[in-house]
Amino acid sequence: MRGFLIGRWQPLHNGHLTIIREIASEVDELIIGIGSAQRSHTTKDPFTAGERIMMIIKTLKKYDFPYYVIPIKDIEFNAVWVSYVEALTPPFDVVYTGNPLVRELFVERDYIVKKPKLYNRKEYSGSEVRKRMINGEEWKHLVPKEVVDVICEIDGENRIRRLNKSDCEV
Ligand code: NAD
Repeated sequence: MRGFLIGRWQPLHNGHLTIIREIASEVDELIIGIGSAQRSHTTKDPFTAGERIMMIIKTLKKYDFPYYVIPIKDIEFNAVWVSYVEALTPPFDVVYTGNPLVRELFVERDYIVKKPKLYNRKEYSGSEVRKRMINGEEWKHLVPKEVVDVICEIDGENRIRRLNKSDCEV
């Protein structure tokens, strides 16, 4: 059985890693979609698809399960989005998501859709991690060590702070 999990992973955090590992133990192969692959360099979506792929592959290196990472750009056509995803990915039997729109679109196409358990949603959240980076607060304990390494390599913390400045401050 092959499972599909899509996220923006902006950035990959410990909640994401926990569900990826749980799902991987339920399926034979896991397809990880990098959603909004065209987006980067905004305070909401600071990291490129390539940077997010690095975060995932480096983090999952120490775990032994088969997975694919597929970048998926957004399209302004929700009604055909599932067909679009199917055209880009290996076939899959079950979808895992906590995102209501993703759930709705796959349920309407008769997929089995499972909702992963949420872990420490208050802190394990992409928006919380990004907010802490902008405010100079501690964020590194909320993400895998490999993600810290990638963000350091690309100077991502300073990127998101620069992106947050108004034009008067630049
Ligand atoms: P996300 O990175 O916020 O979350 C990924 C998954 O992790 C979700 O299932 C979420 O429920 C889960 N998660 C988050 N925090 C967690 C925690 N603390 N514990 C456990 N699980 C946690 O990404 P997302 O918003 O779900 O990504 C959906 C993607 O699909 C987006 O890129 C969106 O644009 C894309 N999409 C595109 C279209 C279109 O192009 N028309 C339509 C639907 C969805």
